[in-house]
Amino acid sequence: MLEVKTPEEVLRLIEKVFYPADRSETVSLAEALGRVLAEDVSAEEYVPDFDRSTVDGYALHAKDTFGCSDAIPAILNLAGEVKMGEGAAVRVPRDACAYVPTGGAIPEGCDCAVMIEYTEDYGDGTIGILKPGVPGMNLIFRGDDVFPGKTVLCASRVLAPQDIGALAAIGKTQVSVRPRLRVGVISTGYELVPVDRKPGPGQVRDVNSPMLTALLKEFGAEPVDFGIVVDDEKLLREKTLDAAENCDAVILSGGSSAGVKDAACRIIGELGELLLHGIAIKPGKPTILGRAGNKPLIGLPGHPVAAFFVAKLFVLPLLARLEGRTLRSWPVRAELSESLNANHGRMQMNACRLAEEDGKLTAVPIRSKSGLITQLAGADGYLMIDRDCEGLPKNSEVEIYWQ
Ligand code: AMP
Ligand code: MG
Repeated sequence: MLEVKTPEEVLRLIEKVFYPADRSETVSLAEALGRVLAEDVSAEEYVPDFDRSTVDGYALHAKDTFGCSDAIPAILNLAGEVKMGEGAAVRVPRDACAYVPTGGAIPEGCDCAVMIEYTEDYGDGTIGILKPGVPGMNLIFRGDDVFPGKTVLCASRVLAPQDIGALAAIGKTQVSVRPRLRVGVISTGYELVPVDRKPGPGQVRDVNSPMLTALLKEFGAEPVDFGIVVDDEKLLREKTLDAAENCDAVILSGGSSAGVKDAACRIIGELGELLLHGIAIKPGKPTILGRAGNKPLIGLPGHPVAAFFVAKLFVLPLLARLEGRTLRSWPVRAELSESLNANHGRMQMNACRLAEEDGKLTAVPIRSKSGLITQLAGADGYLMIDRDCEGLPKNSEVEIYWQ
């Protein structure tokens, strides 16, 4: 008999039993995308390092322009021009101004920039200012963006392209990140053949290894493929032990039910501690979780659809826990295109396609029996139906998870 836990209980168990490993490695900025920061990153420099103009116009002393207007411009002497990529060498005395391009350095003593649109070049070395400046107007001051000691990114952040930009701005050529988790993947079953073999009578191709490997890569882990193992308890034990010794986590798929041939549960119990056997979800009930120290040993159901959902819902959060990162997934709201039945006393997952019509997002459930890969092919995301819910009527608003 399986002792079934609810999804919430499983996620709580994961948080309680596993903990983030305190490990790090240094990578170059070019290799940092998608990696998990191991420590906070603080700036050591000022950005910008000089006062800059945010407009094309004239740097000047605001006082010299008080009260000016279209009718009575302030007439200032043109002291010179600031060039991009050069310091502000030009000296601007009172009642004078200097041309400054967007992003150019502001000459010392000037306290604002007036946009070129509000000025007039008289061509005789003087500039008419048609709108009064105010101190600070159109300027970014040194250190406005960041200053030495300011935390720019926090530990546990998964580095996105915009973070790489921020790191570049503060001159970080290297960052300290969590080592990628090595995750062993084993498929079990007499009937399985590798993708490149044509299945004989009663055989099917191994779907789970390539699928789980892809999921792990997308997550940022390093999958290690241990291939297909037939339903032989001794062989499977050896392979699982090998994977556990060489990886940070092991995922078996197939043979996870309570049948005589289903050895995964016994093996996980022998190699470590069995934590759970059975989650109240559909598909995906016969799921096993165990541990050898802080190493998760996971037994997924063989049905590819079930394996996919369990991996998404529980394995990825578990791996995230080992890295100390929080997985966030914001669903999109969509209108259900047709009614969906559910009456299982288990949370039900359903793959969907998303379609947009007249600016409205519609979720089209993909109907097929668990185990058929058509449910996964081309799915944009999935919805979850609560275990107490008896079904969803057509046009109801649903949340689609798609990350
Ligand atoms: P099991 O969990 O071993 O009882 O398998 C349940 C179903 O999933 C059976 O129809 C298996 O043939 C199928 N299955 C198990 N492992 C895989 C796999 N790696 N790829 C494709 N189908 C699988
Ligand atoms: Mg099997």
